[in-house]
Amino acid sequence: MRLVLLGAPGSGKGTQGEKLVAEFGIPKISTGDALRAAVKAGTPLGVKAKATMDAGQLVANEIVIGIVEERLGQEDARKGFILDGFPRNTAQAQVLDQMLSRLGQPAVDKAVHLHVTDEEIVKRLLDRAQKEGRADDKEDVIRHRIAVYNQETHPLLDYYGQRNKLVTVQGVGGLEEIYTRILDALK
Ligand code: AMP
Repeated sequence: MRLVLLGAPGSGKGTQGEKLVAEFGIPKISTGDALRAAVKAGTPLGVKAKATMDAGQLVANEIVIGIVEERLGQEDARKGFILDGFPRNTAQAQVLDQMLSRLGQPAVDKAVHLHVTDEEIVKRLLDRAQKEGRADDKEDVIRHRIAVYNQETHPLLDYYGQRNKLVTVQGVGGLEEIYTRILDALK
């Protein structure tokens, strides 16, 4: 199964993605996690991306495309994957389609959209800021990330909708309840 998880920051893509990993035994590929690891390790890529991430902007397409391409080429991703946080704009979605065909892999099966209101998102991210202390979980940055999502990433709902791949799931409620909705939507 080849899935893309769509949804605003804090919509639960990471958490629900982990549950899908456990259920289907395919890897989750999170560009945000990969970038944070690069920042932490102080690699040249991490150094380059840090200021952009801290400001809540999208890092350059070439950087995230390189990360995904490398990861999708690995053996364990051949039988399927869950993409969390990629694609983030239409150009990335187009590159993903091309990349899969170049790698000789089937196309994305479904894009799962976790729908959560902006108000709930701000509440969740402020809460996460207190618990995890992520540099990009400050209120002004949070609002900017939501704006970037609405402008850049939201159009992907149409991109996958037009290809009959979009499923939308309400992302509010208990974790198990939301997960059940996802599984039902994938049937
Ligand atoms: P996330 O953990 O997915 O919210 O990502 C954290 C930050 O990493 C984002 O705010 C962006 O700065 C950067 N990032 C992650 N994925 C992408 C992507 N696909 N395209 C551009 N920037 C990304």
